[in-house]
Amino acid sequence: MNIEKNLGKQFENAETEISPKEREEVFRQDENELRHATGECAGIESKHSIDPLRDSDKELKQEHEHPGLYEKTDAKVYVTYACSAACKHCATDWRGHTKELGTAEDTEIREKEIKEYLDKFKEAMRLYHEGGGRTILFTGGEPTEYPEKFFGMLKVLQDLKKSEGIDWNVLATYTNGVEWLKEVEYEGERKRVIDFLKELELKSVDLSAHHYDQKKRGELSKSMGEVDVEKLVAELQQSNFQVRFQGTLNKDLIGSADDVSKYVKWVTAMGGQDIYLRNMFKVGKIGPDTTPGDQQKLRYALERAVDLEQIVTELQKNPDFEFIGTSERHSGYGTTYKFKYRPTGASVQLGDLTIGAEDPEKNTYFTFNPDGNVTRNMNIGGRKDFSEKSQHGAKTAQRLKK
Ligand code: SF4
Repeated sequence: MNIEKNLGKQFENAETEISPKEREEVFRQDENELRHATGECAGIESKHSIDPLRDSDKELKQEHEHPGLYEKTDAKVYVTYACSAACKHCATDWRGHTKELGTAEDTEIREKEIKEYLDKFKEAMRLYHEGGGRTILFTGGEPTEYPEKFFGMLKVLQDLKKSEGIDWNVLATYTNGVEWLKEVEYEGERKRVIDFLKELELKSVDLSAHHYDQKKRGELSKSMGEVDVEKLVAELQQSNFQVRFQGTLNKDLIGSADDVSKYVKWVTAMGGQDIYLRNMFKVGKIGPDTTPGDQQKLRYALERAVDLEQIVTELQKNPDFEFIGTSERHSGYGTTYKFKYRPTGASVQLGDLTIGAEDPEKNTYFTFNPDGNVTRNMNIGGRKDFSEKSQHGAKTAQRLKK
């Protein structure tokens, strides 16, 4: 099957313009449908018997009978949707958004909302931990865009570690690097973002850098084109952060095996040993449930996807690259192709992923959204409001401690 052609056809059939009002209507309708589907309305039998987050005694018991519910599920934490980079392909912008807490201009409202957001995060992380979950990926938007939220979340994890002995694995923090060397004020102190994050014991950084040439990076995003990546990476290395370089494959930028090879040379010259190059997302289903956001960015992303298998085949012929094998990504919705870069031993991975086709019955991720609620994925159909259950998570934690 010609996937690209098929996607193009879906796109033609998709709604290309959705006004904010229509989008809100879709959210509302979908939430109502979901309430019916999950039996929240009286007299309706639930189809979602595995849903761990519903508020009933029966299911509370079931939850404890399945302590490993989130053992294989990563927590994907959306700190904010905001990001000054405004990349032309940004998936966060073309997917659905919830409301967002803690971004109000008014200081009093913002502080109140941040407290609410952090309280919800603490409850959600307890619930995740009870289900056997340990692995956290911070993403957005740009996590450092709202330092009080992001730093506050890291403090929550530190508190839970101290008070309840929970050992988290913060596997990734996806960032564009724009803010890291700038100073910000937090709890009465003024320091650079990088220095605060080091103190908060963040260890790994997934730095987006979409080209080896700074000017080319600027074509995709003005603010990312202004980042001196070499300088930032040197500072990160000095502060002992583990840096993974994240690039997006793009027909106009890194679009061939030769470009991949140049990118890898650039990274390894800075001492980088960990590279992940992802193709533009494929979209399993285009429409108001999965892609209700910025249609221009969606179109850009679909049109710039590369033929990843072709690149992998060509890299296998390059003596600098040793093919290690493939692995499954994201509950089977994608594939990662793994290579070793022989001159330095660096790990080079290339990935493909289809989104928007997630099984609504399964927890693809333990997704913590900017409104402080937990959902199964980023599709609107996967966005049930679990706020009551967050409180329920806290109650469960208290009971377990007794
Ligand atoms: S850096 Fe990431 S979140 Fe920010 S605009 Fe670019 S793709 Fe979107």
